[in-house]
Amino acid sequence: MQATTLILVLNAGSSSLKFSLLEMPHEREILKGMAERLGETQSRFMVHYPEKKELELPPSAHLPAALSALKALLSRQNLSPRIAAIAHRVVHGGERFKNTTHLNGEVLDVLKSLIPLAPLHNPANIQGIEAALAEWPDLPQYGVFDTAFHQTMPKLAYRYALPTALYTEDGIRRYGFHGTSHQFVSGRLRQLSPQTGERVITAHLGNGCSMAAILNGKSVDTSMGMTPLEGLVMGTRCGDLDPGVLLYLLTQKGLSPKAVNRLLNKESGLLGLSGLSNDVRSLDRARQEGHTGAALALEIFAYRAAKAAAALCVSLGGLDSLVFTGGIGENAAWVRERIVAHLGFLGLVLDPELNQACMGHEARISLHEHPAIWVIPTQEERMIARESFEKMKAENK
Ligand code: ADP
Repeated sequence: MQATTLILVLNAGSSSLKFSLLEMPHEREILKGMAERLGETQSRFMVHYPEKKELELPPSAHLPAALSALKALLSRQNLSPRIAAIAHRVVHGGERFKNTTHLNGEVLDVLKSLIPLAPLHNPANIQGIEAALAEWPDLPQYGVFDTAFHQTMPKLAYRYALPTALYTEDGIRRYGFHGTSHQFVSGRLRQLSPQTGERVITAHLGNGCSMAAILNGKSVDTSMGMTPLEGLVMGTRCGDLDPGVLLYLLTQKGLSPKAVNRLLNKESGLLGLSGLSNDVRSLDRARQEGHTGAALALEIFAYRAAKAAAALCVSLGGLDSLVFTGGIGENAAWVRERIVAHLGFLGLVLDPELNQACMGHEARISLHEHPAIWVIPTQEERMIARESFEKMKAENK
């Protein structure tokens, strides 16, 4: 292996492709970009060199065309020969994938069998893997699973109180998501502050939101479940809900399963509560201008997040650190303040000035050293590259 190599990280969504090229082992990002609205007439592919440029795409380009454009760019930049592996973000690995996995035809078949568990996410990930295997047949490719980090959860945390056969025959259990993010920020906290790194709650608050209870570096519980719909209030997802509401929507209101799916995933959460937006920046501005729906949405968001954090303390037997990450966790000081305001009984107290000053950078923002409150920006691409690089090194030993 050369002294430094490149890992190309791919994150394929239903109509988007995010990529990041990292130089290893230093984990230095040298190129990144995102293709959006794939399959539509206005599809576009923006790349940071670091300055922003647009890559040309054929009209109504789909994922394979975006990957071809990316491959051509990497060749033009003379980067292709240095790429040692491709790392794919995969949302759902079920119980089968507990670790980063070398992708091949057999693994793809297993991934396809998991589609029923993640019908909204895995098909796009699989399409991305198939297209990348076709473009780069000679490079090793790895799958890094959002669920893998939470595979250390005990039964107590992952089983639903449903008939056992639904677990044993259908795999209906809690899996948890955002695993690479929770793993990255909890690992970083243990570097920054080993003395408060034992019993940790990580709060990933972005468009999707989840919390994890991490004991000595291992996930022991998390707020998301079989799908990324359970748990906290999110941008457009409702989070925890009485299952009776679902029955009501289906039987009394006569909504189709498709309509219920859209309602719970796309029309609820901050957007549904505020009637205004799923974006915390817009909601925070509206709240300050007196919009009561925006204020209520943010207060419910904070209250529910605090309740989830308090519940996760049960799995940890106490708390040494609370870590905020994700777009909201890293930037929205007022939301952090509202969450922590409910958690004073755990000994958590913000330093108002440190909290206010912290926008997207790493900092301790608590008044006390213990229990501590931190902001640690997440770097999922870096974690995905790190995991794949380690796996590749182990294979080449
Ligand atoms: P995703 O889950 O799609 O990766 P992000 O982690 O980027 O999303 O988080 C998006 C959320 O972060 C949005 O609600 C956005 O309003 C919020 N956000 C981003 N920057 C700020 C900011 N400076 N202040 C407040 N909220 C922010």
